[in-house]
Amino acid sequence: MSFTVPPPPLDIADHFPDLVPHARSTTLLYPRAGAPGRWESSLGGPLLWPADELWPTCAAPDHYNPARGRAVVGPDPVAMVSVVQLFAKDVPALTFPAGTDVLQVLWCPLIHSEYDQWSPVPALRWRSAVEAASGQLRGEAPKPYEFDDEYVPRPCVVHPTEAVEYPNWDLPDNLVERVGEWSDEVEETTGISYFDAFTTRQSKVGGYPGWTQAPRWPECVCGERMEHLLTISASESCGRWLPVEERTSPGSGWEVSDARQDNSHGMVMGDAGGIHVFVCRACPNWPTIHRYDC
Ligand SMILES: [Zn+2]
Ligand SMILES: [Zn+2]
Repeated sequence: MSFTVPPPPLDIADHFPDLVPHARSTTLLYPRAGAPGRWESSLGGPLLWPADELWPTCAAPDHYNPARGRAVVGPDPVAMVSVVQLFAKDVPALTFPAGTDVLQVLWCPLIHSEYDQWSPVPALRWRSAVEAASGQLRGEAPKPYEFDDEYVPRPCVVHPTEAVEYPNWDLPDNLVERVGEWSDEVEETTGISYFDAFTTRQSKVGGYPGWTQAPRWPECVCGERMEHLLTISASESCGRWLPVEERTSPGSGWEVSDARQDNSHGMVMGDAGGIHVFVCRACPNWPTIHRYDC
């Protein structure tokens, strides 16, 4: 079920038309603790997984659990955990490879040095729901015998909601200063800044990566800059994007106190960090790469 996002405090086309070409559609996921089924889109929920398909594991030689004094884990492979499952019908703006309609993201809940990211490394599966269900389905997923609980999501239902957002860290150089000044004016008149009103930093599909730090867009092996596929963010506190359905008091949202963090996936991911997954749809098999920032 989608949520209803309150309208922004003002129309950007009327007030700052130079930003209009930088608008991007995004699908905000709004993960909320619950008991999703394997036939549902979810964050940290059970995956639609054929019984005869091996569950992915990780035996990276250097992965470690910081909660245990950075001791390297192993050598037995660690079962990956389910992070996201999205059915195409729930995220109409997301392009799937031909013949597939389910995107699944898993990761090994330990810290890896791959790409110097010091984070879990997302593993993606694009599959056909009908094909997956043509045989037996897996019951319980195996549990990792070692994990960093900052990267193990509590099972959540999701409420994929289409929204339009504008760049934060990804503002073009020639607009940074003007938008900064305008943001202060907006805050004086509406009580909320441009950044809080028009940019998002919560789990989402498409749109701008929910950067915490300066952008580090990856380049594909083909030389193209990769596209932002999705962000899994520690921050689900929404601010002005807090949906109408969850508001207990009126207001622009920024001042609406909420405890969404407690009611979401519970992953701290470093310090309010996020993992951003990028894809190149120009290359065969759609290679992906991730960026971790916090
Ligand atoms: Zn690992
Ligand atoms: Zn490429």
